[in-house]
Amino acid sequence: MASPQDIPPGTLERPSTENEIDKYVQTVESPDLWLEDGNIIIRTLSQGTPPRHTLYKVHKHVLALHCSAFATLFNGPQGAFDVGSECHDGLPIMDLPDDPDDVSHFLKALYFPQETQRHKPIASLPMKERWSPFPASYYGILRLTTKYDAQEIRNLVIPVLKAQWPSTLKAYDLLLGEHRGRSQRSSKVISLASSCSIPDILPFAFYALACRMRFSPPPSTAPHLDGSFTGLCPEDLCRLITGLVRLDAIMRRELFAVTSNWTADCPLVDSQQPGHVSACQDIGYIWEDSAAKDYIFVADPLYFLLRKQAELARHKDLCDHCRKHMTTSIGTLREALWKHLPTYFGFKNDLLASWGDSV
Ligand SMILES: [Zn+2]
Repeated sequence: MASPQDIPPGTLERPSTENEIDKYVQTVESPDLWLEDGNIIIRTLSQGTPPRHTLYKVHKHVLALHCSAFATLFNGPQGAFDVGSECHDGLPIMDLPDDPDDVSHFLKALYFPQETQRHKPIASLPMKERWSPFPASYYGILRLTTKYDAQEIRNLVIPVLKAQWPSTLKAYDLLLGEHRGRSQRSSKVISLASSCSIPDILPFAFYALACRMRFSPPPSTAPHLDGSFTGLCPEDLCRLITGLVRLDAIMRRELFAVTSNWTADCPLVDSQQPGHVSACQDIGYIWEDSAAKDYIFVADPLYFLLRKQAELARHKDLCDHCRKHMTTSIGTLREALWKHLPTYFGFKNDLLASWGDSV
């Protein structure tokens, strides 16, 4: 049996003649939320050609149980809501002005809250699903649970979003630095996080978008065609560009600092021979040069550092001291970058409840 998330609303449309389609608004019953003992009809309107009403036969009790906004509406003066409403099959109709897809996902979440947990925890998902596009259904659920004050369902969804747009470096590393697909949706997430008051996901959403900009910077047409930057307000665009410039400046400076701190203490340097250069120091100079060049072509600085750290950990010609010093230094640099992401993108840390907890 298909799950409710798999069946889009309105797939069991009643037959209509072409003339009817041309002249009238189509009316369809939701195939998966048409509950026989329901006592209220929710109606949405799709602005297609022709426009379409989708009806959901659900329970006032369930709506009121989850959403304080509906509880207030239904618990008003006795019968006022029922008397004042248009009816369908003897049941009162409540029109919701929201996006029909959002309403469908929202109602399904009220009846089947376990469906909101399919992407959590992300680390347990098969790799294909981990990288696959994050379902837009969560956005609709979040918008409407916020609007209609359904706190419990909202609190189920927020951790799922936070796992995709993490606030700790440890959680970011679970994504394996592979978030190009995610970055294409970052502008939507930024707008969602702002309107639904989830500031903790903003720094990484901006970081992911900054990576997108590094990967394919304007005036290349690609970012504009795929909509990566669509919907950002001027203030957010300014935040994005400022953050990217700051991040690049720090990276260029710190890449050099990492090697200079490292090579100074190599125990293989023969102090009896003035000007002696150890094998580790040679590797350090070459690494510094290649890292600076490689960085130009890198989209994701944090992932780049992770790969460089792994390369050095495997390097056979480094002494143990230098290998440890180098990998630790890169790890420290990654942690510092992460911790300061909110600052680069102009956020105040005190507005972010759990940013960088245990890095
Ligand atoms: Zn050494």
